[in-house]
Amino acid sequence: MKIHEYQAKQVLARFAVATPRGEVAYSPEEAHRVAERLGGTVVVKAQIHAGGRGKAGGVKLAHDPNEVERLASEMLGKKLVTIQTGPEGRVVKRVLIEEGLEVARELYLGIVIDRTTARPVFMASSEGGVEIEVVAAGHPEKILKEYVDPAVGFLAFQARKLAFGLGLDAKLVNEAVRFFSSLYRAFESTDASLVEINPFVVTRDGRLLALDAKMNFDDNALSRHPDIRELRDLDEEDPLEVRASNYSLNYIRLDGNVGCMVNGAGLAMSTMDIIQYAGGRPANFLDVGGGASEEQVRRGFEIILSDANVRAVLINIFGGIMRCDIVASGVVAAAKSLDIKVPVVVRLEGTNVELGQKILRESGLNFTVAHGMKDAAEKVVALARGLSN
Ligand code: GDP
Ligand code: MN
Repeated sequence: MKIHEYQAKQVLARFAVATPRGEVAYSPEEAHRVAERLGGTVVVKAQIHAGGRGKAGGVKLAHDPNEVERLASEMLGKKLVTIQTGPEGRVVKRVLIEEGLEVARELYLGIVIDRTTARPVFMASSEGGVEIEVVAAGHPEKILKEYVDPAVGFLAFQARKLAFGLGLDAKLVNEAVRFFSSLYRAFESTDASLVEINPFVVTRDGRLLALDAKMNFDDNALSRHPDIRELRDLDEEDPLEVRASNYSLNYIRLDGNVGCMVNGAGLAMSTMDIIQYAGGRPANFLDVGGGASEEQVRRGFEIILSDANVRAVLINIFGGIMRCDIVASGVVAAAKSLDIKVPVVVRLEGTNVELGQKILRESGLNFTVAHGMKDAAEKVVALARGLSN
């Protein structure tokens, strides 16, 4: 799960990570009042779940509350397109108003789980404020890394190594060590999957602060953090994905036109591969799970059909724990309550396959039956082409 910058800063502040003074606002008038409270020069920052806002006009300096109000009204309700949002952009619904700081240096800090070592890795770079992917590609040596043994945690010597590596002033090293340790504690205690501070700044008056903050969390650990789960902003998520998550379906929307209804993550992945192999593109990943109910199958099918990009649907089920008749009943129930305008190809195999096929045959609905994955993929891709022409 992702959260907004201002929320990440609130979470970090609980762990004594230094952040600039600021408050979120939902309207230009509210932004005006926040600017009055803060006083002096402030920064107006569009809050969306995507970075690259600075270059796209989503981060602006203002000198008085009237200017803040004007900038906030220019941002709120408008689409912001950054390199991370894709061309469709995101509508800005909240702005963060923050004290303006005099920045001497912009550095980078990040903590993620490293898949190779299966450990958290604490990264730091003197090349802050810019896209870290660019630094990683061109100058990987400029990214310092400390791997953390989860059994002993992030140790003070590792923090010191990073602080010296960043070339911080000797008199700032102790404060940096405290900052990095607090940041790691925040990452670990909240079951975060990513914490990124870009830029981490040194101000002219020698303070260290998180000027930007990004935090992502492990969805599977959210049950342990009800306070963090509340920070979820459904406006920032794909509406179909939100609907699917309400029914505990593993659904990810993609940009192709073949809707896929599959059980088991491995089968779902190979289904997507074989669709591509047959020259098509999947519209989604959907794993209805091993023990899906008829209701879940029906909801999953409805969600696939609500995607306007879908030109044909492939139902690819291997009945192991899941029984083919349950899937067939769910699909038929969904089909009866919906007006299906696209062709549906079905490949069923496994437990109760005859019963499943019988339910489909006797439903009076028009399904194309396929034998094997290759046949199914070729049929559905051909049908999707036929309609999209
Ligand atoms: P991003 O572009 O979405 O990553 O947004 P950031 O929060 O990183 O802001 C982009 C840039 O705006 C930063 O790298 C800073 O250079 C600048 N910026 C943001 N807040 C301040 C501030 O309080 N003072 C100054 N001088 N610059 C700021
Ligand atoms: Mn940033």
